[in-house]
Parts: sequence; structure tokens; C-alpha cells
Amino acid sequence: MTKKTDNKHAVKHHLHPFSDNAQLKKHGVRMMVKAKGIYVYDSEGNEIIDGMAGLWCVNIGYGQKKLAKIAEKQMEVLPFYNTFFKTTHPAVIRLSEKLVEITPRNFNHVFYTNSGSESVDTMIRMVRHYWSSVGHPNKKIIIGRWNGYHGSTLGGASLGGMKSMHEQGDLPIANIVHIDQPWYYGLADDNESEEEFGIRAANWLEEKILALGADKIAAFVGEPIQGAGGVIIPPTTYWPRIEEICKKYNILLVADEVICGYGRTGNWFGFETLGFTPDIFTTAKGLSSGYLPIGAVLVNDKVTEGLLAGGEFNHGFTYSGHPVAAAVAYENLNILDKKNIIEKVRTKTGPYLRKRWQETFSKFKYVADIRSEGLMCGFTLVKNRETRELFDDFGSTGLICRDIFFKNNLIFRACGDHMVAAPPLIISKKEIDNMLAIASACMREFEEMMD
Ligand code: PLP
Repeated sequence: MTKKTDNKHAVKHHLHPFSDNAQLKKHGVRMMVKAKGIYVYDSEGNEIIDGMAGLWCVNIGYGQKKLAKIAEKQMEVLPFYNTFFKTTHPAVIRLSEKLVEITPRNFNHVFYTNSGSESVDTMIRMVRHYWSSVGHPNKKIIIGRWNGYHGSTLGGASLGGMKSMHEQGDLPIANIVHIDQPWYYGLADDNESEEEFGIRAANWLEEKILALGADKIAAFVGEPIQGAGGVIIPPTTYWPRIEEICKKYNILLVADEVICGYGRTGNWFGFETLGFTPDIFTTAKGLSSGYLPIGAVLVNDKVTEGLLAGGEFNHGFTYSGHPVAAAVAYENLNILDKKNIIEKVRTKTGPYLRKRWQETFSKFKYVADIRSEGLMCGFTLVKNRETRELFDDFGSTGLICRDIFFKNNLIFRACGDHMVAAPPLIISKKEIDNMLAIASACMREFEEMMD
């Protein structure tokens, strides 16, 4: 039996993702044993505010009993059946209808996966198959962005712009290229307005298309707001200009909604908040609020028509449209819908968090670029706010700061030296105040340590 406090034993056999496992073996891990609302509890009995909704996914919060009941019922009735060979089941039909109901009018088809990475890889294969089906087999190149994150599979990690991931395992794979991220604070010229910068950053796409040849480009893919890249919220001019460029050069526009989707930005999808309409969008995480693994790729009518003309699409997963995951996801969407959770993010908690986030962090001297949209927010740790000088070895200061938060029972994340938060969408104003009171004390501790 594992003793409650014996956390080194907990890593004896488990290789943890995105972790230095040798370090974990030396120092141990924190064991989470239960959760409720916005809180998780560790094996020592500490109550921890989960400012990250797990991994940006527990949108409806922990402990929703209804989802457990639905899962149990579905397991009893039909725990598994596939959707490969001329078969289907009621749970996946219901979920598909619900997804079509909540998406814009011209999205009428959905392909199921088990994760964000699988959604992204599915999208890559789909995009290339589409162009081949409509007579443009040379349109293969997919353009992503530096510091974007699109998952850990070969396709997802290639499309993402995380250099530390590319360094391991010979990535990116062929025909994937990147442009810079639209980070105003970090990349704008002196005296350049946000609007001007947004257009200039979008024009990097046009430059890349012209350099490579539009007849070779299949798609541009971006997170409406870059999540793991540090909650990078582009200027309002950025996405409309990107959409214009994609139309001009006949290139598919893909939104990776794995984080932004299902309410995070105060609308069902991030592209609604950021003012553009993609051809395809990838989702996962909030689709089931993380209660079970499931992802979905939503496809507009134009792309669907091309795919239907292309015969069999030789792609799919054993658990595509898994009945239990589909039933839980359907109920999760219903709860988000019926309880007006997303509307509250847009009109109440989102604006409140924005105001309080600004007030809380603007008083700290190593903090700059304080930003938020819906319940997704960040700031950047900098050496000098006036000159915009970053700390050396980008990322190491963020980890120091994150560990102070973690020690004080508040989970924020460090994406490089960007500190970010994305709490469950059910967080109340009072809970926001409590979270920020702890965050403020943590920042004082951090600044004292840095001085
Ligand atoms: N796409 C985005 C935008 C993500 O943030 C993530 C995960 O954080 C993924 C894809 C990959 O999702 P998963 O970890 O479920 O494979």
C-alpha cells in the first residue's frame, strides 16, 4: 500500500508527461486525491485553488455528479461500440446534433477523436485529403506559428512552434512551417499602435505564402488566443486580416479551439470572440470538461463537400465517438448551456476578473503586459517594465514564480516567463477575490526573493 505521504513511491513506475522524471524521483510529486468546484485536495489535506482548471479543461468545475451518473448509465447500456463499419449509436448522434446546434450555421459535420493532439493530426490529414480530393494535390504545406501549441503527437508537435519539442525527435515533419506570434508587447516596434501591429503580424502570413507559393499552401492554423504560448491575445485587427489573406490565396483557415472552445473566452468558441470564421476547427478539453477523453473536429460545408467527393477517408480511432465519452460530453454541453455558464463568463466573471487582474498585478515592478479575455489571463515577468527587458534564460524566472504559487496552494502556470491562469468557468466573483488575494501575497514573496 502507498502511504499517504510516501510520494516518492508514487513515481516509482510512472514516467510523467512534460516532466524531468529523474527530478521527480528525487523530489517526489504532489498527490491529488479529490476535487470539488474550483478546488483540488492533496493527500496532505491541503485545499488548493485550481487556477488552471486542470490543464485548461475542467470548464464546468469538479464534482458534477450528473456526469458521473450519465457515465454509469451509458456503461451499463452500451459501454462500447465503434462507428467504423456502417454502425453508429444514440450517444454519438445526440452529441453531433448538439455540436451542430452550438456552432455557426455552415458547420454541419464533426469527426471524433480522443484528445486535442488527435484532433490536430486528424485536421492535418483531412486538410491534405481535401485538397487532393478537389484537384489540388500539391497544396500540402500547413503554416503554424512560433510558440503555438497544438499537442504532442508528431503532427501536433510539428505544427506547434515549441522549439524545445522540435529539438526532441527530429521535428517538424515535412511541409510544416511557422510564422511569428502576434505578441504586441514583445514584438511591436516603438510607437507602433496595437492595430498597426495586428495588421503587420497578419501580413507575415502573406509574406510566407508569397515566398512558398500559394499553390503549395493547404492551410493556416492558429489558436484564437495562444494558450500554452502564454495567453497571447492578438490585437483586434489580426484575425480579420488573417481571414482576408486566407481567402485571397485560397487557403483553408483552421482555428485550434482546444483551449478557447466551449466557453473559455465568453462565447462558445474563441473565433466568435476574436471576430473570424474558420473552415475547420479542432476541439477537445472543455468538450467533456475533462471528465473523459474526447475531441472533435468541426468541418464546414465547403470542406465537407470536398471530403465527400474524395471517397473513403482512411483515418479514425478505435474510440472515435466512444459512447460513454459522447454521453458525458453531451451532458457537459447541456450544463454549460442550460446554466448560462458561458454568458456569465462573457458578462460577469470575465469582465470582473479582467478588472481585478489588472488591479492586482499592476502594482508589482517585475510585471508587464497584464492581459485577459473571458477567463483566460496572463502577465509577463520582466526585468525592466519601461525598457521591456526580459529576464535572461526565458522561462527560468517563470518556474520560480510558479513554484511559489504552488507552495501557497494556488495553481497558476508558467509558460516561459508568462504567468497564466484559466480557472473553471463556474468560478464566482468571491472566489476570484480569494484567488487574487493569494496571488498577490505570492507575488510579494516572489519580488522579495528577486530583489
Ligand atoms: N491544441 C491546443 C491549443 C492545446 O492547448 C492542446 C493541449 O494543451 C492541444 C492541442 C493538445 O491536446 P491534448 O493534450 O488533449 O492532446
